[in-house]
Amino acid sequence: MINDYQQQKTLRDSYDFCIVGAGPAGITLGLRLAAAGWSVLLAEGGGREHALQSQGLYACESTGLELYAEETRLRYLGGTSNHWAGRCRPFTPSDFTLAPPGELPGWPIPYSEIEGYLPAAMEIVDLPSGAEFHAMNTGLNGGDFEPDRFLLSPPTRFAQKYATALEQTKGLDVFINCNCVDLEFDTASGRLAAVVLSDYQHNRQRLVASNFILATGAIENARQLLNSQSLLAAGVVSKKGLVGGCFMEHLNIELGTFILKSGQDPEPRQYYTTDAFVDEYKAGKGNVTAVLLADVQTYGRTAEVKHFLENLACDMGISSKVEFVAKFSCPGDGVISTMIEQFPNLQSRISLLDEKDALGVAKVNVNWALSADDRHTIKCIGSELAQQFAEMDLGFVKLNDFVYDTSIPLKMAPHAHHMGTTRMAASPQYGVVDANCKVFGTENLYVAGSSIFAKGGASNPTMPLLQFAVRLADHLDAKMRAASGAAA
Ligand SMILES: Cc1cc2nc3c(=O)[nH]c(=O)nc-3n(C[C@H](O)[C@H](O)[C@H](O)COP(=O)(O)OP(=O)(O)OC[C@H]3O[C@@H](n4cnc5c(N)ncnc54)[C@H](O)[C@@H]3O)c2cc1C
Repeated sequence: MINDYQQQKTLRDSYDFCIVGAGPAGITLGLRLAAAGWSVLLAEGGGREHALQSQGLYACESTGLELYAEETRLRYLGGTSNHWAGRCRPFTPSDFTLAPPGELPGWPIPYSEIEGYLPAAMEIVDLPSGAEFHAMNTGLNGGDFEPDRFLLSPPTRFAQKYATALEQTKGLDVFINCNCVDLEFDTASGRLAAVVLSDYQHNRQRLVASNFILATGAIENARQLLNSQSLLAAGVVSKKGLVGGCFMEHLNIELGTFILKSGQDPEPRQYYTTDAFVDEYKAGKGNVTAVLLADVQTYGRTAEVKHFLENLACDMGISSKVEFVAKFSCPGDGVISTMIEQFPNLQSRISLLDEKDALGVAKVNVNWALSADDRHTIKCIGSELAQQFAEMDLGFVKLNDFVYDTSIPLKMAPHAHHMGTTRMAASPQYGVVDANCKVFGTENLYVAGSSIFAKGGASNPTMPLLQFAVRLADHLDAKMRAASGAAA
């Protein structure tokens, strides 16, 4: 049943599970755990539609690279799946075996731990059963780039697709406009005792459950943990520790342009770095997309005016002459875009500000920062791609100067893939959650979503985070059955 917490505040005395956040991760967990016979409260801060009173609670500061964290995340039922694009690429075994450079380890579990959950995750996002993740093109000869592998979800809008299930699944109480504003930790038992829920008139109440799962997205998962005074006092969370650290994105960098030789197939090409490339250059992974433009590409608020003038310049064949005042691409020009892995680094971080939001929760500062290792990855991908284009006689690549000269500031945009702020590790020295997504130092607090990623690879995060969510549902079901068996 979906209830509006603004009007209806009657909760059970206690639930088996309380899940905070009804995006892809929270909805998947809520439906699975309730279907397994457990009582579940799914608390969603937003309503059924976009509304400023909820979206405004995502307002944050940025001291790092521009992330557009307020615009890209959506704070209502279904979460950011309300405008995700649906690109799905599975992780591969090497994502789990390769350690990142530096002090921090990679994943503490092998790929086999989530591989078996791929069919379930595919079904959740409406990918046909058994469909192959296949490329549209062949790879490049040099051994560094293979064809990329991905499938496109319709894209699944979780609130719409699962509306009936959220209404009708027995044991599941969904509350919208129901904001988690605090986590109450009991040091003596090591358990989270309650979450504090609030409507938009600041009416607060405690909600007790046996287990709690944070599924509010990678920025908010860290925010919730850092905002809890009782978790801080118990030392489970520390302000400058791993919670909020290692914030990762996928790097959206235009490597440059290319001219395709006549006779070559003009269709878009999607390449992906091979494991051999990663091993040889000690670099991260990356997708490279090479597309011939069908139209002038232009950006910004004055795009319409620029579009007209740039078209004129292209038609008159004078685009190169006006490049010193304006930079743009003409139809037929090739552009090379990317989705590149960022390695975990502790400087890239979510932290709390003194300023509070409308419900009294501390606002967030995002300091998205790259390391020298990330610049190395970008440089290696760019230069190897250019070389292999030439060697295969496909055409000519002109790299942007910031790709090969790492002293020049990078021009880059995010992909809105937020990861790593509650990373999984074998011990609290290196991470926030254990191999079962349980927060170190607690008995019953779990995290779902891409904040648990120890490494982001260059795979779109949603399908993998759903694999982890289904795995977590199975684990929690087994844990509860073992506990009730032991009690009987
Ligand atoms: C434009 C765009 C395109 C994208 N395209 C792709 C793509 O092609 N492929 C891909 O894999 N990924 C893509 N993504 C990323 C994808 O949307 C996310 O990976 C996914 O939505 C994360 O799911 P989640 O459930 O972890 O978090 P979210 O979807 O962010 O859901 C979190 C939920 O928690 C709720 N919430 C937050 N705070 C509270 C609180 N205090 N109390 C209660 N509830 C709260 C929110 O309202 C929200 O419903 C894209 C993202 C954007 C912005």
